[in-house]
Amino acid sequence: MSAEIIDGFMIAKGYRERLALEVEKFVAEHGVRPVIRVLLVGDNPASLSYIKGKVKAAAEIGIDSEVLRYEPSITEAELLAEIERINQNPAIHGILVQLPLPKHIDEHKVGLAVDPMKDIDGFHPVNQGNSLAGNWCLESCTPKGVIALLDTIGCDLNGKKVVVIGRSNIVGKPVSVLALNRNATVTICHSRTQNLAEEARQADVLIVAIGQPKFVGADFVKPGAVVIDVGISRTAENKLVGDVDFDSVKEVAGWITPVPRGVGPMTIAMLMQNAFEAMTKQISEGAVS
Ligand code: NDP
Repeated sequence: MSAEIIDGFMIAKGYRERLALEVEKFVAEHGVRPVIRVLLVGDNPASLSYIKGKVKAAAEIGIDSEVLRYEPSITEAELLAEIERINQNPAIHGILVQLPLPKHIDEHKVGLAVDPMKDIDGFHPVNQGNSLAGNWCLESCTPKGVIALLDTIGCDLNGKKVVVIGRSNIVGKPVSVLALNRNATVTICHSRTQNLAEEARQADVLIVAIGQPKFVGADFVKPGAVVIDVGISRTAENKLVGDVDFDSVKEVAGWITPVPRGVGPMTIAMLMQNAFEAMTKQISEGAVS
């Protein structure tokens, strides 16, 4: 029997619609709406397209967003000063620095400069560390989106065996931590893992984030497992494909995310969720009036 398809596009739409209602309720009760600023250096076409999607989603949800654009010649010190200016502005709840940055600017330094309370991408080491410690934090958006997909299909991770393939700081490691925090037994695999398919076949939930088109075949999947494909690559024909060989794996898995319309749309929905959470946290802690 073929797997059930997890429609990330529709699930993300549901999250955005519920968030829009929550934002309007908050505005009615408290007179404040989430305000975010997106910092863009230069005019990388891919960055412009990502930002367009974020700004559109923000507008639909009722989040005040503005793109602050800087010349590619901006110095690192000038950009850091801009971030500090926004950090200090209590009327702005969320900051997002669009990557990549020009080579002369240290992305790590820039990431560290963002106030962790305003770090709606959830990349700051303080947020990642708090996630690891099981404390409140702004969680990284793609990992948070993966967990939201699992919640939506009613997949309770408690006691489940989760295998994550990929150990990057933005997907593999943080999604492993979120699954662990949900009481899953987690195995993290990577390029040095021995007997990868055998490890993957142990999984009740297999999460793949490696950036290798169609790498994971049916031999990696236990019958009935949930398969979440985070990977996005472009083929020579300009088609988007995931890390999972969808056609063969769907014959074995119980649930599977497609690419596109799988994890991708959840990332922006979770970014917006983080903007709302950042605002409410700042208000409850008296950081904003
Ligand atoms: P990285 O390149 O940073 O990390 C890839 C990870 O996969 C590494 O840990 C690497 O292992 C591991 N890996 C690579 N090849 C293999 C292999 N053959 N076998 C086992 N492990 C392997 O990628 P990201 O985590 O940033 O992204 C992964 C994918 O997810 C990409 O396709 C990216 O486009 C996509 N993505 C999608 C998002 C979304 O919104 N849907 C958001 C972010 C990313 P090692 O550490 O040993 O090198």
